[in-house]
Amino acid sequence: MNDINLQGIGMTSRRTRDRLISRLKGQGISDEGVLNTLRETPRHIFIDEALSHRAYEDTALPIGFNQTISQPYIVAKMTEVLVSTGPLKRVLEVGTGSGYQTSVLAQLVDQVFSVERIKPLQDKAKERLRQMGLKNVHLQHSDGGMGWPSKAPFDAIMVTAAPEQVPEELLLQLAIGGSLVIPVGQEQQQLKLITRQSDLEYKTRIIENVNFVPLLAGTIR
Ligand code: SAH
Repeated sequence: MNDINLQGIGMTSRRTRDRLISRLKGQGISDEGVLNTLRETPRHIFIDEALSHRAYEDTALPIGFNQTISQPYIVAKMTEVLVSTGPLKRVLEVGTGSGYQTSVLAQLVDQVFSVERIKPLQDKAKERLRQMGLKNVHLQHSDGGMGWPSKAPFDAIMVTAAPEQVPEELLLQLAIGGSLVIPVGQEQQQLKLITRQSDLEYKTRIIENVNFVPLLAGTIR
């Protein structure tokens, strides 16, 4: 991250970012590590220039291909829920999208594995993560409904697109004691935290109602 990049547009001032963080606190986000990471992460570099002046608003924004960069509140919430499950070494993210959530995770856990089904989005995300100097991120172009079997087991899995039902493959790629945070449903979606308690035992907690783009099968070149 260099200052030239950050000062190029007016809305990246410290005050603008601090305002976003205050807002997140007001919405119940309390993990200091998560709040600091969001404060220091340049969200505007993950958004096309025409919209980057809105980067520090607490809203999802279009990134092309009918997809969106997640709202900061949701990024904070999902991250807080996962990091509260314990220190995380290996984390799988399904739906790299812009790479913003990936970059937040990469600053808080040891290794991030992230899969994306739309190749041009993955390519852009790769370049931005490189720009940020993050070396602990591994990207793959694939259908994340299958997880990333060769890299499993994971201490945590975060899914940033909503399936109608929880894909069993993802449950099976959790380490014992590991947790999956995932939006589930169609019009009405619920964010769920599912923890693998033993080989075949899972515990589900409902976090809140959410609104994600759908998890889709197959890949786009
Ligand atoms: N975390 C991203 C969210 C992007 S939106 C961000 O903040 O930018 C969800 C992303 O999930 C989209 O990029 C979409 O293409 C991707 N996606 C949907 N279904 C998928 C699947 N089966 N495998 C991998 N990625 C998928």
